[in-house]
Amino acid sequence: MSRVPLRRALADLPAYVPGARAPVGAAAFKISSNENPYPPLPSVVAAILDGAEDVNRYPDMFATELVGAIATTLDVAPESVVTGCGSVAVLGHVLTAVCEPGDEVVMAWRSFEAYPIAVTLAGARGVRVPVTPDGRHDLEAMAAAVTERTRVVLVCSPNNPTGPAVHADELTAFLEAVPRDVLVVLDEAYVEFVRDPQAPQGLAVFRDHPNVVLLRTFSKAYGLAGLRVGYAVARPRLAAGIRAASTPFGVSHVAQLAALASLRAQDELLARVERIVGERGRLLDGLRGQGWTVPDSQANFVWLPLGDHATAFAERCSRAGVIVRPFAGDGVRVSVGEPEATDLLLEVAAESDPR
Ligand SMILES: *Cc1c(COP(=O)(O)O)cnc(C)c1O
Repeated sequence: MSRVPLRRALADLPAYVPGARAPVGAAAFKISSNENPYPPLPSVVAAILDGAEDVNRYPDMFATELVGAIATTLDVAPESVVTGCGSVAVLGHVLTAVCEPGDEVVMAWRSFEAYPIAVTLAGARGVRVPVTPDGRHDLEAMAAAVTERTRVVLVCSPNNPTGPAVHADELTAFLEAVPRDVLVVLDEAYVEFVRDPQAPQGLAVFRDHPNVVLLRTFSKAYGLAGLRVGYAVARPRLAAGIRAASTPFGVSHVAQLAALASLRAQDELLARVERIVGERGRLLDGLRGQGWTVPDSQANFVWLPLGDHATAFAERCSRAGVIVRPFAGDGVRVSVGEPEATDLLLEVAAESDPR
């Protein structure tokens, strides 16, 4: 038994619960982690194999070529782009770069389960503002929750796991209300799936507001969850701070090449996103047609607010060969995957009690 004390903050750290995986050898659709159901494109696999030849070397620490390609794609300065080992890691670096011990970080709740962990590890204190009954950020209440201790507000749009995106007018009003020295992180992990015409253009928001940082990822629309590449878009001074707080060589050479190849294949990958958006519509329509109450989804998942029935419903799904993500006592998140997975999910839902 080691006597080495651990940080007190770890004692109350919520555990990140990964989406369950199919038992080895069992056939099941894994729609528990918001992954892209499509395998990597041949051009991306080729880039990965190419990169394998050089793994005795450290990667380019600043991911220069990838940063340049992202900057060109988004029409921002390369100095504004900071890559990291998944946008979850980048968020950690953002928080470490700006939070002093005890500072407050305001977030919606329920939102992305990585947030409370990242905030606590950064030595800050999370302040949770409940989402509305239809799973939307209550941006007015979030603005009202900002105090002189608030250093950061996390805005997850679309919100994982409830689904809706924030609207441009309410975000503008929110940014007007929040002091200029409070960092607003707009987490756009699912931005490519957004079709709500009222949703904001993150890049325009970033251009208009020096205290806004965007977080984006190659894990969802680009299908590279297994290679861990995400990035922040921030004003150069903030970006330099985030870079300084980052793990050196956080993005592997293989991951950098795969992300570059994915940007080159953007059209093909966005066509897949379009198919997933179509499948999302089929899933939402099917559930609502059965009488279920499902919030709007602008992401690659839908949320079933099942309350105490969440765990039992997830178990029924598993028995039917679809693995979903229950949040005990609250709801079930179902990722949009293969059409066969949608069919199975709708079958289980049809046999369950709509609430
Ligand atoms: C999936 C997700 C991310 C991205 O995670 P990576 O670390 O880039 O794989 C970030 N934010 C939210 C809200 C997510 O759901």
